[in-house]
Amino acid sequence: MNEFQDQLLTLGDVQDLDRRIDDLRREQAEIPKKLEVIRERIVAAESKYKKRKERLEELDKSRLAKERELEEYEARLVKDNKKLESVANDDIYQKLVKEIAQIKAANDARSDDILILMDKIETEQLGLRKDKAHLDEAKAAIESEARPLKNRLDAIPGETAKYQAERDKMVEGLDRNMMRKYDGLRAQKKGIAIVRVAGRNCGGCNMALSPMLVNKVQRAESMESCPNCGRILYWDEEVRTNPGATPPPPATNA
Ligand SMILES: [Zn+2]
Repeated sequence: MNEFQDQLLTLGDVQDLDRRIDDLRREQAEIPKKLEVIRERIVAAESKYKKRKERLEELDKSRLAKERELEEYEARLVKDNKKLESVANDDIYQKLVKEIAQIKAANDARSDDILILMDKIETEQLGLRKDKAHLDEAKAAIESEARPLKNRLDAIPGETAKYQAERDKMVEGLDRNMMRKYDGLRAQKKGIAIVRVAGRNCGGCNMALSPMLVNKVQRAESMESCPNCGRILYWDEEVRTNPGATPPPPATNA
């Protein structure tokens, strides 16, 4: 193995670390979003519970008001019925009879209203119990879902720094021009700048390479790129001769 090939292999390892660091950064950016979703779930459940509770209180107030009204008019009926016994004037008597009939009809309607309200209250009470369970569930999610996410978020910077230090050390001996090309390609090619030749194909875009190019890559005397995707190509003898060795990184896009 010549020195240049050694550099290319090291660059491949640098890329593995860079991709791991990229993954960690993505994870780090995703976690706050996931935490926000959990928080929103609690806020929504809390708001639903509160609104229903208010509705229930309103219904209860209406029921109480109606019951009081009914009581009032029931008392009035008792009074009117008593009055009826002592009235001598026929006109007044007829008027009173009419009034009693009206109050009775109105009280029947009041009783119906109260029944309807009680029915609604019962439904809302059932709903409120469900809303409460839902709210408790959302709150419990803080323990079961948010806690591990927060712990992970705390651990990521340390992990990233470890890989970063490893990477920085690896990069020290690498050719500056090669690094510049690598950095530029990584930015353009979604994180994959250097790829192994797999069989006769580019490990990045899978295009078949000419035998001459494959030969050049194997000799590793100059930096060779895939004519299709532009990625730096290298030959990894170890992978070729030892199938148990690290497989080529999966290249997802050309
Ligand atoms: Zn390619």
